[in-house]
Amino acid sequence: MIKAIRVPERAFSITMWVLSFIFAGFLVGLGGLVIDDLPRVDHPVEIGQFVDQKAAAEIEASRAAAALQRDAIQRQIDIAEPVRQSAQNDYGAKREAFDNWIKTREATTDSKQDPEVISRTRDLDALNDRVRAQEKIVEGLTADQAGIERKVTDLDQRRSALENAASSTFQGALFKQDLEVFLYRLLFTLPLLVIAGWMVKTKRKSAYWPLMRGFGLFALYAFFFQLVPYLPSYGGYIRYIVGIGLTIIASHYLIKWMQHYLANRVVAEQKAEVERKQSIRYEDALKKMSANVCPGCERPIATTGDVLADYCVHCGMQLFDNCKSCATRKLAFFRYCMSCGTTAEAGKTEADTGGVTA
Ligand SMILES: [Zn+2]
Ligand SMILES: [Zn+2]
Repeated sequence: MIKAIRVPERAFSITMWVLSFIFAGFLVGLGGLVIDDLPRVDHPVEIGQFVDQKAAAEIEASRAAAALQRDAIQRQIDIAEPVRQSAQNDYGAKREAFDNWIKTREATTDSKQDPEVISRTRDLDALNDRVRAQEKIVEGLTADQAGIERKVTDLDQRRSALENAASSTFQGALFKQDLEVFLYRLLFTLPLLVIAGWMVKTKRKSAYWPLMRGFGLFALYAFFFQLVPYLPSYGGYIRYIVGIGLTIIASHYLIKWMQHYLANRVVAEQKAEVERKQSIRYEDALKKMSANVCPGCERPIATTGDVLADYCVHCGMQLFDNCKSCATRKLAFFRYCMSCGTTAEAGKTEADTGGVTA
């Protein structure tokens, strides 16, 4: 690729881009502080503000009472359960002792021990009764607890029903709040976008363009990160409508630009070759030739077979010529012959022309 841009110019261009980004970075920081100071919603709307307050308070009170009851029963269970466990253990131990004793008795079959069998069995029964009694206490408490859980579930359902009833008013208030936040942000972002758009349109050739470009980057950042995420959705309607609107506007300008471009090309192609060549910037001509595009009509350079394309087949512009001094084939846009250094104007040397300014 043939580059016509001077090396320091290239470095300068990169430095200026860096400068644009640094400038944009500082502006983004400052903009962030300003956004933070914008009027905010101190008390975001909640569904609780829109339900039937009296009914909600009743439900809340019942729920608190139920929670207290549940805690009290849990404490009772915590006390009863170890007692039941201990009775169970006692019974288990006694039962084991009895079983062992009865085995010994069967081995000896001593009939004099019958009254003791009866007595020991009675003891075991009494212990078993105690275990059952404790189990019943725990079971009763557990049943009470289940009853309270059901009551809490009912209360929660009533609470949900209240919230459902308030839902549409709440959604309306939420939308209003979102809209307010968005409008504040729009008030901040819109002027930035307008100024940036004006700069892009009119100040591109300005020596201070790198700073303005930084401002443009900042405006884009503000648009995409400080405004778009806060666009109220309202069930997706607004986003889609705004998207459709922006697409139509962008298409309109693109179509206009294309029509303008094509009209310009038609006019340019009708001019005389010398005039056309003069209107093309030296750097642009070399860049387009490197990309195999005709600098005159911006169509791809075409040829057939092995014939070297000296002229554009579309607009007739001469792309390659031969040095008048040494006959080397060269780009018609080169100012000097790369082989002998003769200027493009026939027979003259650099000294004669006094050099060509960029
Ligand atoms: Zn052409
Ligand atoms: Zn030459």
